[in-house]
Amino acid sequence: MKIVGLTGGIGSGKSTVVRVFGDLGVHWVDADDVARDVVEPGMPALAAIAEHFGEGVLMADGSLNRAALRQKVFAEPDERIWLERLLHPVIRKELVRQLQPEDYPLPYVLLVSPLLLETDQRGLAAKIIVVDVPESVQIERTMARDDNSREQVERIMAAQMAREDRRSQADAIIDNNRPLNEVERQVCELHNRFLFEFS
Ligand code: ADP
Repeated sequence: MKIVGLTGGIGSGKSTVVRVFGDLGVHWVDADDVARDVVEPGMPALAAIAEHFGEGVLMADGSLNRAALRQKVFAEPDERIWLERLLHPVIRKELVRQLQPEDYPLPYVLLVSPLLLETDQRGLAAKIIVVDVPESVQIERTMARDDNSREQVERIMAAQMAREDRRSQADAIIDNNRPLNEVERQVCELHNRFLFEFS
């Protein structure tokens, strides 16, 4: 089973594009969802976090208080490293587990991740798809979706990989500065290419 990585900056259209692959029957896993799954109440990683940082990082119902945890690691590089060392292997293991569907007829699955190229998740992917739009479109769409200010979106983008760096690492680029039906056509072409290449 081949894993194809799908990445792109905030608001580039990863979720939109992956839904089109999903409609074609392609199994996909979102790394952000998995990162949330592994710190659900009852998971060992959440217990380790509470033991390390104290019960103050938990909500009354036992779930993770993300804002409190962010505060703890924000100005403390050692604590951030501790947290990443704990979570990265756990997330990776869970990603690999979820990327192996049973009785699956296709030769590839998709790993959707905003940080695919920045983390060791990259090593999981046989091919990289980059969902690409100009920065101005990224900003407009994210502002409309999240009700964020331009400054907030620009700050997030500044912390992510630059557009050209991302594009230069792509095996395939989906131009998402297009009407949805044209995006669907690009996805179909890519799907057929992968079916051919991986079987
Ligand atoms: P990401 O998952 O990369 O953050 P989304 O898929 O959520 O991005 O897309 C960001 C916003 O742009 C969403 O509101 C989405 O509906 C919209 N969008 C995505 N692709 C297109 C497109 N081709 N044309 C118009 N709007 C789009």
